[in-house]
Amino acid sequence: MATPKGAIGNGPVVRVAIGGDHDAGPELLRAARDATEDVRVVAVGPTGADSLAPLVLATQNGTTAFVPQCTVANVTTIVETLENGSLPDTAATVEHDPGATSMPTPPAAIDTTAVLGVGSRRVLGGCGWRAPASVADYRVSRDDELLAERAIDDPDAVHERVADAALRGRGRGDGSTDAPISGVWTTATETDGKPVVVVNANEADDHARADRLLLESAPLAVLDAALATAHAVDATDVLVYTNDAEALARERAQEAADALAADRDPDIPIQVVAGPDAYTAGEMTMALEAMEGNDRLEARRRPPGPDQYGLYGRPTVIHTPRTFAQVGQALADNDLGGVPGDPGTRLFTVAGDVDAPATIELPTDATLADVRGAVALDGGLKTACVGGRFGGLTRDLDVPASAAGLRGARLGTNGVIELFDESTCTVALAGQRAKLAREENCGRCVPCREGSKQLVELLRDVYDGEYQDGMLRELARTMRETSTCEFGQEASRPVTTAMESFEPEFRAHADGRCPSGSCDHVSS
Ligand code: SF4
Repeated sequence: MATPKGAIGNGPVVRVAIGGDHDAGPELLRAARDATEDVRVVAVGPTGADSLAPLVLATQNGTTAFVPQCTVANVTTIVETLENGSLPDTAATVEHDPGATSMPTPPAAIDTTAVLGVGSRRVLGGCGWRAPASVADYRVSRDDELLAERAIDDPDAVHERVADAALRGRGRGDGSTDAPISGVWTTATETDGKPVVVVNANEADDHARADRLLLESAPLAVLDAALATAHAVDATDVLVYTNDAEALARERAQEAADALAADRDPDIPIQVVAGPDAYTAGEMTMALEAMEGNDRLEARRRPPGPDQYGLYGRPTVIHTPRTFAQVGQALADNDLGGVPGDPGTRLFTVAGDVDAPATIELPTDATLADVRGAVALDGGLKTACVGGRFGGLTRDLDVPASAAGLRGARLGTNGVIELFDESTCTVALAGQRAKLAREENCGRCVPCREGSKQLVELLRDVYDGEYQDGMLRELARTMRETSTCEFGQEASRPVTTAMESFEPEFRAHADGRCPSGSCDHVSS
């Protein structure tokens, strides 16, 4: 039986989640299809919760049974049970509107699927529920009208809505990280030349999975919002930029682009391209360099920013999939929720010393502490690194999930929360991040290139008995204030925040002791 284009409806349907870091999904899909000719079997994207994979959902008459860690034998039984008019007997069964267009959330009290009940699932609503490249599915979720179609009729209304909502950019590769995005839209529109819209999904940090999740699981929501943006800024084309290794994200983005083109006149073409699997390649100006075909990637000086001088010199609106997902939410729903200065939700991937990483969605008026319900952490929480590779180290997760809240707590906003248990040495952790900065910077500017070397050397001095806190702080300040791009501006943050929250550990190391007992060349 062929895969139906629209998975929504009242009939029995089995959804098999394919994507993420698990490769058993295709085998389950084949087994499910081989076992039935009467029940619809649909490939959906991942939910973001690794602990549930491979996940299969069985739906009938407004009730869905969740079967996490499904096996081939299980999926065959599920299909046969559904054929016989029953649902499989599982720990998590949820009743919902029979025409639900977003994944019904299992109660948080159900242990096996509790992760899906953490936070909200607004931009993640289609993940694991809708067929990723089915425009029919997606249209049902938008009351049959694409955002791009509305934008053709009234492009100014799109811009006004985004400006009124004061929507801020999400992610380190965004053209408006943590800042209202309407400003760059205005500049791109008012600058000479034909604007282009770029979806920057190149994120080589393994822990930062939200953009990949959106492209693998809900690419139409991202591309429809990108097309609406293109109409709002009068752009002539849209480019989706991923890293080379993320083949499924690229494949699903291409399928979604093709499906949109087949559904309606391709008045604004969407092109999907790949760049290097390098952390720096996600920086927005290095992303533009990569798309232009330059082998040696260096960040561009600003001003002018990409909104004035971007891809091939054209005015360029560049956002991450996370930002476009919020744009789509703002255009579809007047009630974004969250805090007024940073409305909507933010996606966080919880990783580190946990049973399995999970990408969850928190309203910006929630606190990061809510993520603890999404993962199991062996031992007690000692340290969290919030904000990605160059995030801030903290003991305290009672921090608002908004950009202002995160920045106020000197944490990063790149949607990653790594949780570490008591065996983690914060001095060593800060040192690992400093070495990353030394090894991966593009080499263009002195403060970052030379500063990251000095940062590593000053940390090595701590192990040799000399903790020069004043010099470390002054070096960090110089890197933060004078580096060309956010890589160098943020590279010292793990060190400075570790010094603020865990200073006794630095002094202990200088005295020859590692309090966590994990640094083998100083004694515990
Ligand atoms: S801050 Fe670092 S990554 Fe950015 S331009 Fe300077 S050397 Fe390159």
